[in-house]
Amino acid sequence: MRRVIDKLGATLSASLTLLVGLCATTLVFVATSHLEEDAASLDFQRRAALRTFTVQRGLEEAVQVLSVINHFYATVGDPTREQFRDFTQPLLEHYPYVRAFAVHRFVADDDRPVFEALRQGLTPDFQITVLADGKQERAPQRPFYLVVDYIEPVSGNQSALGLDMSGNQAFRQALETALASGRPASTLPIRLVQLAPGERGLLVLQPVYRGGVQPDNIEERRAVMIGDTTAVLQVTELVRKILDSAGLLADDEIGVRVFVGPKADETSLVYHHGRALETGYQPLHMAALGALFHQPSGTMASFDIAGQTWHVEISIPPRSVFSDHYGSLLILLAGIVCSLLGAAYLRALALRSNRVQRLVEEKTAELRHTNALLSDDIRARRLAERGLQLRQQAIESSANAIIILSAQEPDYPIEYVNPAFGRITGYSPAEAVGRNIRFLEGRDSDPEGFETVWIAMREKREHNVVLRNYHKDGSELWNDFYIAPVKDDNGAVTHFVAALYDITSMKRYEAELEFQASRDTLTGLINRHMLRYHLDQAIGNAERQKQALWLVFVDLDRFKFVNDTLGHKAGDTLLRTVAGRLRAAVREADSVARLGGDEFIMILPEQDELTLDTRSLQRIMDAVAAPISLGGHTLFMTCSIGVACYPGDGTDGETLIKHADIAMYRGKQTGRNNFQFYTPAMNEQALERLRIEADLRSALDHHEFLLHYQPKVDLASGRVVGSEALIRWQHPQLGMVSPARFIGLAEETGLILPIGAWVLRTACVQCRRWQLDGYGDISVSVNLSVGQFLQKDLVTSIADVLADTGLPPASLELELTESLMMTDVEHAIGILNGLKELGVRLSIDDFGTGYSSLAYLKRFPIDALKIDRSFVRDITIDADDAAITASIISLARHLKLRVIAEGVETDEQLDYLRHYGCDEIQGYLFSPPVPAEKFEQILKQERTMA
Ligand code: C2E
Ligand code: CA
Ligand code: CA
Repeated sequence: MRRVIDKLGATLSASLTLLVGLCATTLVFVATSHLEEDAASLDFQRRAALRTFTVQRGLEEAVQVLSVINHFYATVGDPTREQFRDFTQPLLEHYPYVRAFAVHRFVADDDRPVFEALRQGLTPDFQITVLADGKQERAPQRPFYLVVDYIEPVSGNQSALGLDMSGNQAFRQALETALASGRPASTLPIRLVQLAPGERGLLVLQPVYRGGVQPDNIEERRAVMIGDTTAVLQVTELVRKILDSAGLLADDEIGVRVFVGPKADETSLVYHHGRALETGYQPLHMAALGALFHQPSGTMASFDIAGQTWHVEISIPPRSVFSDHYGSLLILLAGIVCSLLGAAYLRALALRSNRVQRLVEEKTAELRHTNALLSDDIRARRLAERGLQLRQQAIESSANAIIILSAQEPDYPIEYVNPAFGRITGYSPAEAVGRNIRFLEGRDSDPEGFETVWIAMREKREHNVVLRNYHKDGSELWNDFYIAPVKDDNGAVTHFVAALYDITSMKRYEAELEFQASRDTLTGLINRHMLRYHLDQAIGNAERQKQALWLVFVDLDRFKFVNDTLGHKAGDTLLRTVAGRLRAAVREADSVARLGGDEFIMILPEQDELTLDTRSLQRIMDAVAAPISLGGHTLFMTCSIGVACYPGDGTDGETLIKHADIAMYRGKQTGRNNFQFYTPAMNEQALERLRIEADLRSALDHHEFLLHYQPKVDLASGRVVGSEALIRWQHPQLGMVSPARFIGLAEETGLILPIGAWVLRTACVQCRRWQLDGYGDISVSVNLSVGQFLQKDLVTSIADVLADTGLPPASLELELTESLMMTDVEHAIGILNGLKELGVRLSIDDFGTGYSSLAYLKRFPIDALKIDRSFVRDITIDADDAAITASIISLARHLKLRVIAEGVETDEQLDYLRHYGCDEIQGYLFSPPVPAEKFEQILKQERTMA
């Protein structure tokens, strides 16, 4: 009897445990599965929204193509067929889903004979026709006709010319809609002659009004309408193109169906894509489980495009319950198993303790004590075993990859991976165990990622990092990686345990969002957010390449006025137009962003800090200034521009933007329609440049140029042996202008040719005079610029000058730069040989600053090298410059060339040059460049160098 009661008691307590266990499991299961459902549904919503948005935006764009044509037609007035063809051809090429553009014209019956006669001039057998029973025949008499007047491309559409559309029901309906709304309107998808059988097309049309202006109300519109422009779109291809160009076709799990019409049903279906649409097969045993969960199945969004309702249905295939609910199902299973085991264990325990109790009553107190101890021991051991088993199960069934690594340096070989590791990475345990975890790294994996893991392992501490690894199939595997040391009883680290959470899909979604978030929806330019990114990149590049960068702030003048008077829509169109023009006005590598409103920012990298060239800014202003026609108005917009320069005006993006903004405001204050630099000095420089350019043109005629001469001293004798002629500009207002300020400009404008010719002749005349005055065989050097060098008749014109002035050719030295000769070596050698044959001397100026190859140097028929001033300047303070100078001298000796050092200012420099065997020097130490009279005095005094 007692045994029966004991058994009942044990069973009861076991059942209770089971009940509690199951309740807890259910609770956790429900909570987790809800979380999973939310996650799956959120993911689906996002993907659905992205697709719907893409389709809608793409369709709106397609309709806009028609507006462009319509606008053209209205603006030109009545274009010829050729004009229409020229205008539409590039559009047809660019938008392949547009099968044709057509112009329909209203022809009153009275005008029919004249119209037909006129058109027969172009198309001999032209007449107004209709389609009857699939055959084209002469149109019966009607009060008016709506005739296909132009159609492009003509080939394939020839028969449509002359067709009267006024009887076409769908077309008339769309026309009414367009007249009522004042906007483009489309038909429902219909079968069209232009399309292959089975294909369906849309006609999107927009009326053209007399005078090109759209009246405000429907009656007036009807009265002044003279016809319409129409685009024939292949619907299915159109939608496919839109999705494809957004890269959304690659994912064919998601189903997309697009309908046009009042209702979304089989008859209005124009496009479908994706596996989700194939009949969803689900294994039977899964179906039962599926009932437990709620799955996202589809969304439907509707919107209006050109007066027709479009529906986009996004669906997702019924997925295996396991893929979404892996975690919660595991919890459910594990919970039930644990509860059952627990209950059974408890029952056994209870029965045993009853038995023990009975024994206790029979045995002595001592024995009772021993027994109790024994029983405790067993329980403890069993519990420990079960604990281990449970942990093992947990690891095995974890949804995340768990890896156990040996703490053995340097490889930390993998000892264990759980099944999830295989699912996530594609590698089986056999492939992973024994290897270094870094095998997951791809070639271009972020190498720093694992490096930090390595450091943490070496320091035996925990670490968490996001890594980009690669799946066995080569695809990217983004993961959140945790690692922690495992210690043995003595506290020594024997292993590491790592968990790897797959976050690839999250990353992919982030990237998708980022793309969507990087563009300004109105203009398609990059937006404020993306600008910061581009700017940081550009600043980084500029810093590395030691180049300047301009940040240009463009603000339209009086934009608010347009917006207020012509309305927001006009304002939007204006902004789009300006955005397109700004983009076209700059180089590919420049960035153009819209900050918001009518503010734009442009990043112009690779600016030359030394010569301020503002032509790029002028191009931007010109682009905005071209007339814009908008809703029948012709607008003349201007803009104000502010420029901040990196690094002068700021070294970080924020400062540059702020300073460009300030500069722009200064532009507004100084009467709009101009540009301003943030740094006042740059403003002056920009102004000066514009002014110099204007004045340079007349400087020769006004005799404002003169030459200064700098003595060249022979180091062996200490005597003046030659001179370098250097040009000066005596500007009536600016005073003496240095060549550094205008030679570049003269080269750009081509003025260098007459100026250079003047220099050459003047220098030769002067030198010959000195020779005749008895100053020995003094020579003169003349600098030659690229433009002159590439001049066709260079050799003959120099020969003429020598003949005219009587200067012996050997007394003239031409100074050329390395870059001038290195651009086209073969060509240069030809010219140099021609010059050499004349008997003049040739030298390479600024040697060491450009790029010359020794091999070429040997082939150039030159006489001397001039070591650039910058090396000479630092000879005594910079070991590198000293070494370069010494090696140039020895190189020159080797090639049997004379060496001239320019810019010698100190005795130390002179000593060094003399020591290394330099032949001649030129520099302030002996004399700066001086006017001819002063130079003559030096000669007269027979000044020498100590
Ligand atoms: P460059 O051919 O390298 O001329 C030498 C420059 O160094 C001259 O500057 C001269 O005044 C300066 N200089 C000479 N000795 C010293 C010195 O000890 N210390 C320092 N700091 N400078 C010294 P400049 O006259 O201002 O001419 C600048 C550049 O303009 C010339 O450089 C040359 O490239 C160009 N240039 C001058 N005249 C003409 C010309 O008639 N035709 C062409 N194509 N270019 C010219
Ligand atoms: Ca020179
Ligand atoms: Ca030089």
